[in-house]
Amino acid sequence: MKITDIRMMRLWGPRHHGVGGGSTKIAKVVVRVDTDAGIHGLGEADDFMGVRQGIAYMAEYFRGHDAFAANRLLSQMLYGTQPPHPGGAKSGVMANGSVACNMCSPTATPWGPVVWAASAVEIALCDLIGKALKTPACNLLGGRFREGARVYLDRSSPADPTDLAAWERMAGETAASGFTQMKFDIDFMASETVTDVWNRSLSLCQINRIVERLGAVRRAAGPDFEICVDCHMQYNVPDAIRVARALEPLNLLWLEDPTPITNPDSCAAVREKSPIPICVGEMFIAEQFRLFVDREACDILHPDVLFCGGMRELQRIAQFAELHHLPVAFHGNGGAIATIAAAHVGAACRNFLGLEYHFIETPWIGEYVRRDVPLFRDGQVVVGDAPGLGIELDREVCKRHLAAGEALFD
Ligand SMILES: [Mg+2]
Repeated sequence: MKITDIRMMRLWGPRHHGVGGGSTKIAKVVVRVDTDAGIHGLGEADDFMGVRQGIAYMAEYFRGHDAFAANRLLSQMLYGTQPPHPGGAKSGVMANGSVACNMCSPTATPWGPVVWAASAVEIALCDLIGKALKTPACNLLGGRFREGARVYLDRSSPADPTDLAAWERMAGETAASGFTQMKFDIDFMASETVTDVWNRSLSLCQINRIVERLGAVRRAAGPDFEICVDCHMQYNVPDAIRVARALEPLNLLWLEDPTPITNPDSCAAVREKSPIPICVGEMFIAEQFRLFVDREACDILHPDVLFCGGMRELQRIAQFAELHHLPVAFHGNGGAIATIAAAHVGAACRNFLGLEYHFIETPWIGEYVRRDVPLFRDGQVVVGDAPGLGIELDREVCKRHLAAGEALFD
């Protein structure tokens, strides 16, 4: 089964998830791998700088190769090969004008936009291979431990973040809709109290307002509801410890990315004194998790299928965590395809804790594909029995959200 093409389609629309109930715009890139067997696979990428260029490069590189050779193709892209290079390795100038390099990794760095592009193509290959073998993608990963992946909702903040009743309403509605876990952003919970946006600090005033507002969330959601908070890698070590200690009575599931992620030592310093488990790694590849785990800098690993290298890398990271008896939660900035792909992995990982979804306020992001079960049921993404990811594009939704200059896949 030869790859005949890898195509992209950029979707564009509103995103209702802003701080204070605000709205912005968001783009998603749908990736389709076509084959000479007449079947195709679908993947998704975030439209970050360099990602579409990476996918276009892979289209040139992968065309004509066996789709079942996913390990070889993706490893060649991310880590390169040693001489003698494999047959079909490109050199010189490719048809699209990219310069191919077959002397080492074409990228020479397995992180950033290249990995994000490869993640999208890998997801599409898993969908494709599952379809070719007539089995759900989770079976390519060893089969499921559970029927679905528990979802945790990333919530923003109410229109007026000083209104405690609005926080209670937001939490109560989430609990009533069947979800059992949610997350809030420390840096946006009391942003009206911030006087210096540069110094990585949290004032006592800001911490006190955060504690009040999360207290309202806890009251509304009840004592059994799991609540997490995200620091977005913003803070210095002492203030991250101070906010963790202040939040201790609220029984949080985790404190996420308290300090800049370039330094495992500072995160380890927070972890040593934090009464709340530390969760890290939403943009990490496997090797970065190894650094943090070796340094005992985290309690929960938090990879994202769109950023770590795809579904099988996500499972590899989960299995690495399992060796250390640590849980994984999956960060989720993805729309429908990425969420369903991550759910297949979550179902197949023993130590899976939850899968994030960012777009409950933005329905089109979850509706641009269809499948034979709803996206969410009882707070989970159920993994169905359809081959691959069990999805097809909803052409009407895609048409409504096609970015300028884009064409619908035929
Ligand atoms: Mg985060």
